[in-house]
Amino acid sequence: MRNIAHYIDGKTVSGLSGSKGDVFDPNTGKVQAQVELGDAGLVDKAVQSALKAQKEWAAQNPQRRARVMFEFKRLLERDMDALAHLLSSEHGKVIADSKGDIQRGLEVVEFACGIPHLLKGAYTQGAGPGIDVYSLRQPLGVVAGVTPFNFPAMIPMWMFAPALACGNAFILKPSERDPSVPVKLAELLIEAGLPEGVLNVVQGDKVVVDAILDHPDIRAVSFVGSSDIAQYVYGRGAANGKRMQCMGGAKNHGIILPDVDMDQAVADIMGAAFGSAGERCMALPVVVPVGEDTANILRSKLVAAVEGLRVGVSTDTEAHYGPVVSAQHKARIESYIQMGVDEGAELVLDGRGFTLQGHEGGYFLGPTLFDRVTRGMKTYQDEIFGPVLQIVRTQSFEEALSLPSQHPYGNGVAIFTRNGDAAREFAAQVEVGMVGINVPIPVPVAYHSFGGWKRSGFGDLNQYGEDGVRFYTRTKTVTQRWPKGGAVEDQAFVIPTMR
Ligand code: NAD
Repeated sequence: MRNIAHYIDGKTVSGLSGSKGDVFDPNTGKVQAQVELGDAGLVDKAVQSALKAQKEWAAQNPQRRARVMFEFKRLLERDMDALAHLLSSEHGKVIADSKGDIQRGLEVVEFACGIPHLLKGAYTQGAGPGIDVYSLRQPLGVVAGVTPFNFPAMIPMWMFAPALACGNAFILKPSERDPSVPVKLAELLIEAGLPEGVLNVVQGDKVVVDAILDHPDIRAVSFVGSSDIAQYVYGRGAANGKRMQCMGGAKNHGIILPDVDMDQAVADIMGAAFGSAGERCMALPVVVPVGEDTANILRSKLVAAVEGLRVGVSTDTEAHYGPVVSAQHKARIESYIQMGVDEGAELVLDGRGFTLQGHEGGYFLGPTLFDRVTRGMKTYQDEIFGPVLQIVRTQSFEEALSLPSQHPYGNGVAIFTRNGDAAREFAAQVEVGMVGINVPIPVPVAYHSFGGWKRSGFGDLNQYGEDGVRFYTRTKTVTQRWPKGGAVEDQAFVIPTMR
């Protein structure tokens, strides 16, 4: 059986901790590999290697660090097919979607290629007599990232691309459910010229995460995962004096105004709700039509579109989506569908009981559509993270605006309309971090930053973009004075001011 090990100092590190976890193929339900689960000793080994490598890496000029990123991007493009197949075999998403996962990470690598420009500081000449002031950004040292299962390529790259380009060393703790691609990324970075030890991968579960949070030499931790764990990680890391950014779960709404181009909106909603089997933090699992007529037209078009969906194995190029990640997750989604029925929502299409011929052991679920979901329902409040779309009917723009604004999560939201005034008002008022206007999945491009509000994000600085550079650096401000000589200036016993 294939063994997935740690990657430290540019080498595979194996057999140093006793326990292992199973890695499944969601298409078949069979165990396809085992991943080693590290411990505090292994985290320390990775940190010691990173500490040794970091200073020299930080001392290289930023253009040289950028060259490693340029080469890494070339290697990602070279290996795109193989990486996508490996990713799909552990995650379950279709190959084209795995390529998208890699490509969105690659775009952050492209952003990191501009690091010489991004690290330029600020300079003020003549802030006082003979006084100049400059601010510069210095790397933090050794930093770490803990990532979820649903984007095993993109999210590690969101984190380590800016972190490394800024001159840090990075410890990556990937999801134990699809741990192979992160190791491949680390190997490609070494091939691209990254010095050994600057990026280390430690496989594991809570034990490794806690060891990272408690390690005194790790200066900052970036986390992406579910909200309860994000909040826990944020609290424990911050209590240990670390800089923290922790992204959590989501329940994103799509608001449909009566003037919408309904065919286009339905096409957009279908991809956003069911793509990747709904296992995206920027999925769109709730649609909010305004007015009964809008709701009825939307529902009839959605039913037709959902009935046309094709569920298949990851390698099926015609499939719209593949299996969900694990048997437990499938059972959890099914229990939420039952809960929706019990709560009184109208089950329009039921995805339970779906099997794919020849793949009866795979974790497949058909698409589910609920209508007449209301705000008090637990199935509305919670993140289901599966191929389940809920319609919440509203009677006014204000009511529709209040739904995402009052929801405990605040990751993404989209409004579909031709009315510029309404869209502008919505974007200004809604209590959500990322807004799409006729854009169903408003994940910001690599040179903006990604982050949700409320229970979708703990911490101040967002992922990638300029916030990423801020997160992985600290500002030093130097005030320098070069007196002309001659007469000694008066001693000052009051605080110096700019008067
Ligand atoms: P998860 O919270 O189960 O796991 C995330 C990471 O935390 C993994 O590396 C895991 O090993 C670790 N972990 C798990 N339990 C832990 C514990 N008790 N203590 C410390 N660490 C622990 O999340 P997941 O199921 O892998 O990913 C899906 C979740 O991630 C969804 O809620 C989704 O919305 C969210 N997500 C959010 C974003 C975002 O940017 N906001 C992006 C992608 C996914």
